Amino acid sequence: MLDSRIISTLGNSLTASPTMAMSALASKMKAEGKDVLSFAVGEPDFPTPPHICEAAKRAIDDGQTKYTPASGTPALRKAIVEATQRDLGVSYEPEQVVVSNGGKHALMNIWRILLNPGDEVVIFAPYWVSYPDQVQIAGGVPVVVPTSGDNDFQPDLEELKAKITRRTVAILLNSPSNPAGSVFTRETIEGIARIAQSNGLTIVSDEIYKHILFDGRSHVSPAQLDDDLRERTIIADGVAKTYAMTGWRIGWLIAPKHFAKQAGSLQSQETSNPCSISQAAALAALTGPQDSVGQMRQAFEERRNFIVPALNAMAGINCPNPGGAFYVLPDITAHLGRTLKGQQIKDSFDFCSYLLDEALVSTVHGSASGSEGYFRISFACSMEQIKEGLRRIEQALS
Ligand code: PLP
Repeated sequence: MLDSRIISTLGNSLTASPTMAMSALASKMKAEGKDVLSFAVGEPDFPTPPHICEAAKRAIDDGQTKYTPASGTPALRKAIVEATQRDLGVSYEPEQVVVSNGGKHALMNIWRILLNPGDEVVIFAPYWVSYPDQVQIAGGVPVVVPTSGDNDFQPDLEELKAKITRRTVAILLNSPSNPAGSVFTRETIEGIARIAQSNGLTIVSDEIYKHILFDGRSHVSPAQLDDDLRERTIIADGVAKTYAMTGWRIGWLIAPKHFAKQAGSLQSQETSNPCSISQAAALAALTGPQDSVGQMRQAFEERRNFIVPALNAMAGINCPNPGGAFYVLPDITAHLGRTLKGQQIKDSFDFCSYLLDEALVSTVHGSASGSEGYFRISFACSMEQIKEGLRRIEQALS
């Protein structure tokens, strides 16, 4: 029988991603026949566009069912370079791209190649739940700079400077962000980039939500700012959110050549190539018609326009207006300290547990992303579900 004595210190320290755990709990309750509405998972509700699925079927029929180069097919790496040129106006070469099993794997490759034991990475909170754990798995130390919904989750640059030490090697950016949907302004990104430059730091820029922007915003990547910043920025990206392709597991990193070469070597030892059929599908996604990207973006914006005022109309909820992605992160501090139906609500975890038990609505507690006092609702689900979910939440809190 496995017990802690045969598991490494790292193995013992691991916990499952809280969003995955929350949605697994919701699925279990659903399987038990409970009418649970899930707002926990960050996954577009749209099907993968048909032309992408067709390309995957063709790849199978054409026999593209064998190993590919570990870092991805030449065609897909070239398509990623061309799409990045189209989207950011920045030129890269295919050798700078490593295609992985999702954006999550691309990020893990980045940390493993970037960090020595004890190296510090500055992360802005609220952060995506996996960042601190990923950095720690790679031997690094996450250093958190908090931001507040009152300030649209924009960081205070003086606070950032104060967190930089001799051990700092990188600053992590994620705009638009998970879990707040916050979009850093151009000034903020420029400010962070200059701080990275003057301290000789790398910027890891997770741009997985860059196509889901509202109110006419355009994406800003630090790699666009100048040649030095292009060199010191490592981009993580993927097809999951833009093309409703979460299950296909294709993401990538774009980095200076030597870094990408070493990340490719790591991947060749660890997983080899990501699925050949999924790579063919991702190629079709990047090179085919882009209409579905705009349609999904618009649907998310319409939902955002509905959900934010509806939440703000509820007593004790203060919901900042996200500029992108498909999440809201309302402030629920007014509810902390209450006792509802005999349950004490001490923190965001109690709040989300209460909503799950009482309203059969699954959400994610803010403490999982370094933002106690908030909870995350993913609005990547139908308008009907959103309306019913909000009705249940309001009723449970009243
Ligand atoms: N980065 C952020 C901020 C995310 O929210 C996610 C997924 O939820 C990922 C990266 C990883 O995406 P995937 O591994 O599905 O491509």
